[in-house]
Amino acid sequence: MNIIQVYQKFPSQKDCIDYLEGVRWRGIPLCPYCKSDRCCSSNIGYRHYCLNCRTSFSVTVGTIFHHTHLPLQKWLLALTLILNAKKGISSRQLARDLEVNKSTAWRISMQIREAMGDDNQRSLLQGIVEADETYIGGKLRKGKKNDDGTPNKRGRGTKKIPVVGMVERGGKVVAKAVKKTQLKAKGLNALVRGHVDTKKATLITDEYKGYLGISNFMSHQSVNHQVWYVDGDIHTNTIEGFWALLKRGIVGQFHKVSLKYLPQYLNEFCYRYNHRKTIDLFDLTICRALGV
Ligand SMILES: [Zn+2]
Repeated sequence: MNIIQVYQKFPSQKDCIDYLEGVRWRGIPLCPYCKSDRCCSSNIGYRHYCLNCRTSFSVTVGTIFHHTHLPLQKWLLALTLILNAKKGISSRQLARDLEVNKSTAWRISMQIREAMGDDNQRSLLQGIVEADETYIGGKLRKGKKNDDGTPNKRGRGTKKIPVVGMVERGGKVVAKAVKKTQLKAKGLNALVRGHVDTKKATLITDEYKGYLGISNFMSHQSVNHQVWYVDGDIHTNTIEGFWALLKRGIVGQFHKVSLKYLPQYLNEFCYRYNHRKTIDLFDLTICRALGV
Protein backbone atom coordinates (compact mmCIF):
# COMPACT_ATOMS: atom_id res chain seq x y z
CA MET A 1 0.00 0.00 0.00
CA ASN A 2 1.03 3.58 -0.47
CA ILE A 3 0.15 6.48 1.83
CA ILE A 4 -2.87 7.53 -0.25
CA GLN A 5 -4.34 4.03 0.05
CA VAL A 6 -3.66 3.95 3.79
CA TYR A 7 -5.20 7.38 4.21
CA GLN A 8 -8.33 6.29 2.35
CA LYS A 9 -8.64 2.90 4.02
CA PHE A 10 -8.15 4.24 7.56
CA PRO A 11 -9.76 7.68 7.70
CA SER A 12 -10.49 7.49 11.45
CA GLN A 13 -9.21 5.99 14.69
CA LYS A 14 -12.16 3.57 14.63
CA ASP A 15 -11.20 2.27 11.18
CA CYS A 16 -7.68 1.62 12.46
CA ILE A 17 -8.97 -0.15 15.59
CA ASP A 18 -11.39 -2.30 13.56
CA TYR A 19 -8.55 -3.31 11.27
CA LEU A 20 -6.15 -4.13 14.12
CA GLU A 21 -8.87 -6.10 15.96
CA GLY A 22 -9.61 -8.04 12.80
CA VAL A 23 -5.94 -8.92 12.34
CA ARG A 24 -5.32 -9.74 16.00
CA TRP A 25 -8.53 -11.49 17.03
CA ARG A 26 -10.47 -12.25 13.87
CA GLY A 27 -13.64 -10.84 15.38
CA ILE A 28 -13.50 -12.47 18.83
CA PRO A 29 -11.68 -10.33 21.41
CA LEU A 30 -9.29 -12.39 23.51
CA CYS A 31 -8.09 -11.11 26.87
CA PRO A 32 -4.35 -10.49 26.50
CA TYR A 33 -3.82 -11.14 30.23
CA CYS A 34 -5.62 -14.45 30.83
CA LYS A 35 -6.41 -15.48 27.22
CA SER A 36 -10.12 -15.83 28.02
CA ASP A 37 -12.66 -15.03 25.31
CA ARG A 38 -15.38 -14.26 27.87
CA CYS A 39 -15.30 -10.55 27.20
CA CYS A 40 -17.78 -7.78 26.79
CA SER A 41 -17.13 -4.71 24.73
CA SER A 42 -17.78 -1.10 25.55
CA ASN A 43 -18.24 1.72 23.15
CA ILE A 44 -16.04 4.04 25.16
CA GLY A 45 -12.44 4.18 24.01
CA TYR A 46 -12.72 0.90 22.08
CA ARG A 47 -12.12 -1.05 25.27
CA HIS A 48 -13.12 -4.57 26.18
CA TYR A 49 -13.71 -6.01 29.62
CA CYS A 50 -12.64 -9.52 30.56
CA LEU A 51 -15.32 -11.33 32.62
CA ASN A 52 -12.76 -13.89 33.74
CA CYS A 53 -9.92 -11.78 35.19
CA ARG A 54 -11.96 -8.57 35.39
CA THR A 55 -9.48 -6.41 33.55
CA SER A 56 -10.18 -4.01 30.76
CA PHE A 57 -8.03 -3.95 27.67
CA SER A 58 -7.79 -2.68 24.12
CA VAL A 59 -6.38 -4.24 20.98
CA THR A 60 -3.07 -2.42 21.40
CA VAL A 61 -2.13 -4.01 24.76
CA GLY A 62 1.31 -5.61 24.59
CA THR A 63 2.06 -4.32 21.08
CA ILE A 64 4.18 -1.47 19.75
CA PHE A 65 0.99 0.66 19.77
CA HIS A 66 0.42 0.21 23.52
CA HIS A 67 0.08 3.46 25.53
CA THR A 68 0.45 5.59 22.43
CA HIS A 69 -1.09 9.04 22.37
CA LEU A 70 -0.56 9.32 18.65
CA PRO A 71 -3.59 8.62 16.43
CA LEU A 72 -3.22 5.12 14.98
CA GLN A 73 -3.62 6.54 11.50
CA LYS A 74 -0.26 8.26 11.92
CA TRP A 75 1.31 4.98 13.00
CA LEU A 76 -0.04 3.25 9.92
CA LEU A 77 1.17 6.09 7.71
CA ALA A 78 4.60 5.94 9.38
CA LEU A 79 4.77 2.21 8.76
CA THR A 80 3.90 2.71 5.10
CA LEU A 81 6.46 5.47 4.64
CA ILE A 82 9.18 3.29 6.18
CA LEU A 83 8.23 0.16 4.22
CA ASN A 84 8.19 2.06 0.94
CA ALA A 85 11.41 4.03 1.46
CA LYS A 86 13.96 1.90 -0.30
CA LYS A 87 16.84 3.92 1.12
CA GLY A 88 15.18 4.48 4.47
CA ILE A 89 13.57 7.62 5.82
CA SER A 90 15.09 9.83 8.51
CA SER A 91 13.06 10.66 11.60
CA ARG A 92 13.38 14.33 10.61
CA GLN A 93 11.61 13.59 7.32
CA LEU A 94 9.06 11.38 9.07
CA ALA A 95 8.36 14.21 11.53
CA ARG A 96 7.64 16.60 8.67
CA ASP A 97 5.47 14.12 6.76
CA LEU A 98 3.39 13.14 9.79
CA GLU A 99 3.32 16.54 11.47
CA VAL A 100 4.70 15.19 14.73
CA ASN A 101 7.75 16.33 16.66
CA LYS A 102 11.15 14.84 15.95
CA SER A 103 11.41 12.78 19.11
CA THR A 104 8.00 11.21 18.49
CA ALA A 105 9.01 10.40 14.92
CA TRP A 106 12.24 8.87 16.16
CA ARG A 107 10.47 6.81 18.83
CA ILE A 108 7.82 5.38 16.51
CA SER A 109 10.33 4.61 13.77
CA MET A 110 12.48 2.69 16.28
CA GLN A 111 9.42 0.73 17.40
CA ILE A 112 8.44 -0.03 13.83
CA ARG A 113 12.00 -1.23 13.20
CA GLU A 114 11.55 -3.48 16.20
CA ALA A 115 8.49 -5.02 14.53
CA MET A 116 10.50 -5.48 11.34
CA GLY A 117 13.02 -7.05 13.64
CA ASP A 118 15.23 -10.01 13.42
CA ASP A 119 13.38 -12.08 10.89
CA ASN A 120 14.28 -15.14 12.97
CA GLN A 121 15.52 -16.66 9.80
CA ARG A 122 13.57 -19.88 9.50
CA SER A 123 15.54 -21.47 6.70
CA LEU A 124 19.25 -21.42 6.02
CA LEU A 125 20.54 -19.64 2.93
CA GLN A 126 20.76 -22.00 -0.05
CA GLY A 127 22.35 -22.28 -3.46
CA ILE A 128 25.01 -19.71 -4.24
CA VAL A 129 25.60 -17.54 -1.19
CA GLU A 130 27.84 -14.49 -1.22
CA ALA A 131 29.47 -13.34 2.01
CA ASP A 132 31.33 -10.10 2.62
CA GLU A 133 32.01 -7.53 5.31
CA THR A 134 31.64 -3.81 5.34
CA TYR A 135 32.14 -1.01 7.85
CA ILE A 136 29.47 1.36 9.03
CA GLY A 137 29.39 4.36 11.29
CA GLY A 138 30.22 7.98 11.71
CA LYS A 139 30.88 10.52 9.05
CA LEU A 140 34.62 9.98 9.15
CA ARG A 141 36.32 10.12 5.80
CA LYS A 142 39.78 9.04 4.82
CA GLY A 143 42.37 11.25 6.51
CA LYS A 144 39.99 12.49 9.25
CA LYS A 145 40.82 11.64 12.85
CA ASN A 146 38.92 9.42 15.26
CA ASP A 147 37.83 10.66 18.70
CA ASP A 148 41.10 9.46 20.21
CA GLY A 149 43.16 11.37 17.65
CA THR A 150 44.25 8.37 15.61
CA PRO A 151 43.80 8.70 11.86
CA ASN A 152 40.81 6.87 10.43
CA LYS A 153 41.72 4.01 8.16
CA ARG A 154 39.67 2.38 5.48
CA GLY A 155 38.91 -1.30 5.06
CA ARG A 156 39.79 -3.82 7.73
CA GLY A 157 41.90 -1.40 9.81
CA THR A 158 39.06 1.10 10.38
CA LYS A 159 37.42 1.98 13.69
CA LYS A 160 33.97 1.84 12.19
CA ILE A 161 31.63 -1.01 13.10
CA PRO A 162 32.11 -4.18 11.09
CA VAL A 163 29.02 -5.72 9.53
CA VAL A 164 29.07 -9.20 8.04
CA GLY A 165 26.53 -9.97 5.34
CA MET A 166 25.47 -13.12 3.55
CA VAL A 167 23.05 -13.18 0.65
CA GLU A 168 21.48 -16.03 -1.27
CA ARG A 169 21.38 -15.07 -4.95
CA GLY A 170 17.76 -14.32 -5.78
CA GLY A 171 16.89 -14.87 -2.11
CA LYS A 172 17.33 -13.43 1.33
CA VAL A 173 20.06 -11.43 2.97
CA VAL A 174 21.38 -11.59 6.54
CA ALA A 175 23.50 -8.76 7.92
CA LYS A 176 24.90 -8.64 11.45
CA ALA A 177 26.91 -6.02 13.27
CA VAL A 178 29.85 -7.87 14.82
CA LYS A 179 32.85 -7.22 17.03
CA LYS A 180 36.26 -6.85 15.42
CA THR A 181 37.30 -10.17 16.96
CA GLN A 182 34.51 -11.95 15.10
CA LEU A 183 36.16 -11.06 11.80
CA LYS A 184 38.69 -13.79 12.41
CA ALA A 185 38.23 -17.30 11.05
CA LYS A 186 36.50 -18.62 14.17
CA GLY A 187 33.87 -15.89 14.25
CA LEU A 188 33.23 -15.92 10.52
CA ASN A 189 32.94 -19.71 10.45
CA ALA A 190 30.35 -19.56 13.23
CA LEU A 191 28.33 -16.91 11.38
CA VAL A 192 28.39 -18.94 8.17
CA ARG A 193 27.37 -22.12 9.98
CA GLY A 194 24.54 -20.26 11.69
CA HIS A 195 23.00 -18.87 8.52
CA VAL A 196 24.03 -20.94 5.52
CA ASP A 197 23.15 -24.51 4.52
CA THR A 198 26.75 -25.71 4.66
CA LYS A 199 25.87 -29.12 3.20
CA LYS A 200 24.35 -27.88 -0.05
CA ALA A 201 25.25 -24.23 -0.60
CA THR A 202 28.37 -22.79 -2.19
CA LEU A 203 29.87 -19.78 -0.48
CA ILE A 204 31.58 -17.05 -2.47
CA THR A 205 33.80 -14.52 -0.71
CA ASP A 206 36.82 -12.38 -1.46
CA GLU A 207 40.28 -13.64 -0.57
CA TYR A 208 40.31 -12.29 2.99
CA LYS A 209 42.18 -14.77 5.14
CA GLY A 210 39.34 -15.00 7.67
CA TYR A 211 37.47 -17.10 5.11
CA LEU A 212 40.31 -19.54 4.50
CA GLY A 213 38.95 -22.27 6.76
CA ILE A 214 35.51 -22.28 5.17
CA SER A 215 36.46 -24.88 2.56
CA ASN A 216 37.05 -27.36 5.40
CA PHE A 217 33.32 -27.68 5.97
CA MET A 218 31.57 -26.46 2.82
CA SER A 219 31.99 -25.65 -0.85
CA HIS A 220 33.82 -22.31 -1.11
CA GLN A 221 35.07 -20.13 -3.96
CA SER A 222 36.90 -16.86 -3.63
CA VAL A 223 37.22 -13.86 -5.89
CA ASN A 224 40.50 -12.04 -6.36
CA HIS A 225 39.39 -8.43 -6.48
CA GLN A 226 42.80 -7.27 -7.60
CA VAL A 227 42.45 -9.17 -10.86
CA TRP A 228 38.78 -9.18 -11.74
CA TYR A 229 35.39 -8.66 -10.19
CA VAL A 230 33.26 -10.97 -12.27
CA ASP A 231 34.34 -14.41 -13.35
CA GLY A 232 31.16 -16.16 -14.45
CA ASP A 233 29.26 -17.02 -11.29
CA ILE A 234 32.22 -16.30 -9.04
CA HIS A 235 31.52 -12.77 -7.91
CA THR A 236 30.19 -10.89 -4.89
CA ASN A 237 28.14 -8.31 -6.77
CA THR A 238 24.87 -9.18 -5.02
CA ILE A 239 26.13 -8.50 -1.50
CA GLU A 240 27.98 -5.44 -2.73
CA GLY A 241 24.72 -4.16 -4.21
CA PHE A 242 23.10 -4.60 -0.80
CA TRP A 243 25.98 -2.73 0.89
CA ALA A 244 25.55 0.10 -1.60
CA LEU A 245 21.85 0.35 -0.72
CA LEU A 246 22.58 0.18 3.01
CA LYS A 247 25.28 2.83 2.82
CA ARG A 248 23.24 5.20 0.71
CA GLY A 249 20.51 4.84 3.30
CA ILE A 250 22.71 5.20 6.34
CA VAL A 251 24.93 7.97 4.99
CA GLY A 252 22.11 9.82 3.24
CA GLN A 253 19.30 9.47 5.75
CA PHE A 254 20.65 8.52 9.11
CA HIS A 255 24.12 10.09 9.10
CA LYS A 256 25.83 8.95 12.25
CA VAL A 257 24.58 5.57 13.37
CA SER A 258 25.87 4.35 16.71
CA LEU A 259 26.61 0.76 17.59
CA LYS A 260 23.60 0.78 19.88
CA TYR A 261 21.09 1.34 17.08
CA LEU A 262 22.90 -0.23 14.16
CA PRO A 263 21.18 -3.63 14.60
CA GLN A 264 17.76 -1.96 14.22
CA TYR A 265 18.84 -0.19 11.02
CA LEU A 266 20.23 -3.45 9.69
CA ASN A 267 16.92 -5.14 10.53
CA GLU A 268 15.08 -2.51 8.56
CA PHE A 269 17.24 -2.80 5.46
CA CYS A 270 17.29 -6.61 5.53
CA TYR A 271 13.53 -6.73 6.07
CA ARG A 272 12.80 -4.50 3.08
CA TYR A 273 15.26 -6.44 0.93
CA ASN A 274 13.94 -9.84 2.02
CA HIS A 275 10.35 -8.84 1.40
CA ARG A 276 10.94 -7.00 -1.86
CA LYS A 277 8.60 -9.47 -3.59
CA THR A 278 5.99 -9.69 -0.80
CA ILE A 279 2.75 -8.16 -2.05
CA ASP A 280 0.89 -7.62 1.23
CA LEU A 281 3.89 -6.42 3.20
CA PHE A 282 1.78 -3.87 5.07
CA ASP A 283 -0.50 -6.60 6.49
CA LEU A 284 2.43 -8.88 7.21
CA THR A 285 4.23 -6.17 9.15
CA ILE A 286 1.07 -5.31 11.11
CA CYS A 287 0.77 -8.99 12.05
CA ARG A 288 4.31 -8.86 13.39
CA ALA A 289 3.65 -5.61 15.24
CA LEU A 290 0.65 -7.26 16.91
CA GLY A 291 2.56 -10.44 17.65
CA VAL A 292 0.16 -12.55 15.55
ZN1 LIG B 1 -8.70 -11.83 31.31
